Amino acid sequence: MPVQKDTYLSLSGLLKSKRVTLVAVSKTKPVPDIEEMYAMGQRDFGENYVQELVEKQALLPTDIQWHFIGHLQSNKVKYIAPFVHMIHGVDSLKLLQTINRQGAMQNRKISCLLQVHIAVEETKFGLDKTELMNLLQEISGEHPLEHVQICGLMGMASFSDDPQKVRAEFKKLKSLFDDVKEKFFYHDDQFSVLSMGMSGDYTIAIEEGSTMVRIGSLLFGSR
Ligand SMILES: *Cc1c(COP(=O)(O)O)cnc(C)c1O
Repeated sequence: MPVQKDTYLSLSGLLKSKRVTLVAVSKTKPVPDIEEMYAMGQRDFGENYVQELVEKQALLPTDIQWHFIGHLQSNKVKYIAPFVHMIHGVDSLKLLQTINRQGAMQNRKISCLLQVHIAVEETKFGLDKTELMNLLQEISGEHPLEHVQICGLMGMASFSDDPQKVRAEFKKLKSLFDDVKEKFFYHDDQFSVLSMGMSGDYTIAIEEGSTMVRIGSLLFGSR
């Protein structure tokens, strides 16, 4: 399917007016499709396989901000550490420590979002509330991770036809975001990103406080 230009233009305008960042999810889509969207002004793109991201990054303009939105294995961090703009799916201390080490080697601070498990039914990756709080407690101790910037939280709602269910899950994530902000990042303006909402549920996500949506099929056509 071709790039959905009209949808892109109206959606990006709408999101800009609401100060919500649009991450165009280009996974499985070819480089020319990304170039087409780049030409319309899009700069934030999301990928969820390391190898695919590395290959595309090498072929595309350097001012693209690449978001890694998949499940990241520690042994693959090194491939994206030199250039990645934000890693969305961080769900363990071990992974954070690896990102920190790789950030140090690249002499940069890597922006990360902690992934929270909000979907009631599906088993998806992510931390539950207790795990999230424990992780934050550990990294706010005596040995801060100096090459990691925790910028916020990320979550995925259930794939469900029931909008009330999806809304409840996003509400839960927003309330967790507010709690975490108050407890751990009160004086940290960088903790400001709530990444929630995809093609099927971004409207609800924005109503519930999302600041960043990750949208693929609506813009690039179905996969
Ligand atoms: C694929 C993917 C998206 C985009 O999904 P669409 O339904 O195509 O918009 C968003 N977030 C994550 C984590 C994904 O893997």
